[in-house]
Amino acid sequence: MAVADRGAPRSGQAVPDLLIAGAGVAGLWLAVKAARAGLSVTLVERGNPGDGASGGFLGALMPHSPERWNGKKDFQFRALIDLEDEIARLESETGEYCAYRRVGRLLPVTSERGRATASERISDAKANWGGRFSYEVNHTADRGDWPNILHAPHGIVHETLSARVSPPGLLVALLSSLAVMPKIDLRLGTAVVDIIPGDKVAKLSDGSAIGFGHMALANGVDAFPLIARLMGLQAPSLGGGVKGQAALLDAKAPPGLPLVYDDGVYVIAHENGHVAIGSTSENKFDDPHGTDDRLDQIVERARKLCPMIKHAPIIRRWAGVRPRAVGRDPMLGPIPGASGVLAMAGGFKISFGIAHRMADCLVAEITGEEGPETPLSFSVANHAAKAAKA
Ligand SMILES: Cc1cc2nc3c(=O)[nH]c(=O)nc-3n(C[C@H](O)[C@H](O)[C@H](O)COP(=O)(O)OP(=O)(O)OC[C@H]3O[C@@H](n4cnc5c(N)ncnc54)[C@H](O)[C@@H]3O)c2cc1C
Repeated sequence: MAVADRGAPRSGQAVPDLLIAGAGVAGLWLAVKAARAGLSVTLVERGNPGDGASGGFLGALMPHSPERWNGKKDFQFRALIDLEDEIARLESETGEYCAYRRVGRLLPVTSERGRATASERISDAKANWGGRFSYEVNHTADRGDWPNILHAPHGIVHETLSARVSPPGLLVALLSSLAVMPKIDLRLGTAVVDIIPGDKVAKLSDGSAIGFGHMALANGVDAFPLIARLMGLQAPSLGGGVKGQAALLDAKAPPGLPLVYDDGVYVIAHENGHVAIGSTSENKFDDPHGTDDRLDQIVERARKLCPMIKHAPIIRRWAGVRPRAVGRDPMLGPIPGASGVLAMAGGFKISFGIAHRMADCLVAEITGEEGPETPLSFSVANHAAKAAKA
């Protein structure tokens, strides 16, 4: 059915072509892309934009490692390439600044085995990264304290594909873009509580109901139980949350420093001299937003890794819950058994680098126009099959 054929008003209320639940980085990109494609969009957010995992400040845009190339890695690679232009367009349309920069990444090599693995990846990167980006080993860091060369007894990997962006800057730019678009209805402080796909109606927390042409669940970790319910599955089976804690330091660091990554610790210099440090990965937690000594340990490791930030004061501590689907890949596309309802969840640790491309896939699904190919492993059916085996 063509998009224009839908939209019969229900109870006097216009029916949006696309109803989106959740205004994190996923839902906001989807709203922008859908509106650019001419769809009318209602975006329903339980609290405020960025209340979920997207409200942090790390903004690392790091590729998967270049060996054993597959659909997921290819999808992310293309997304990381496109993002540069996507952000330039957003900035020029809105006048907002996202502090995007392709700074590359340094990874200290701490064992002989690590050195051998890194050496093998040089040719994988040449083959799979399109010749434009390099992956080298034994690069001498420009500065001995970024990272600490004593921390890299077997050399340093330097790859030039990684970038970083300011998460708050990007969210503001996406919201500014929506603010000037026609046919956008943003409803804050309202949650989707139920969906009746047969009627193409969603029930909202304010007691009202809203019809839709299509609906997308981009509501982070809370998408999984809703999707499972729509499919008649057991609630927690399709995915869950992994808590992460992060800290922001006022380090007066020069902008343009590469990301540093070592064994789960990220150090990211942002444009304003701030340095973001992350992250814990906690599968079990009582308080999704609290920070504790696990964060202090990460900060201590980061200070040893990059002595430049040894004395930099912490100006913000933050925690959020990353949405991780059962199959570990993002969950994207039609929800079996729920006609017209789509999933856009499970970006886990890489959403800021791929959400715009995930949005392109869903917009193509809705409009029938050509769009990027969604890897099979992203499909809801694939995740459900994995859940059934678990
Ligand atoms: C410490 C930490 C560091 C990270 N670092 C990086 C990084 O460097 N790079 C990177 O790419 N990613 C990073 N991530 C992961 C990234 O933040 C997440 O993958 C991403 O934010 C998920 O975005 P989302 O839009 O899918 O979900 P969310 O941002 O969680 O958004 C979901 C939204 O839906 C709303 N909502 C929930 N239920 C409903 C409902 N029923 N109705 C309406 N609205 C609802 C919520 O209020 C929320 O605003 C990090 C995460 C953490 C925690």
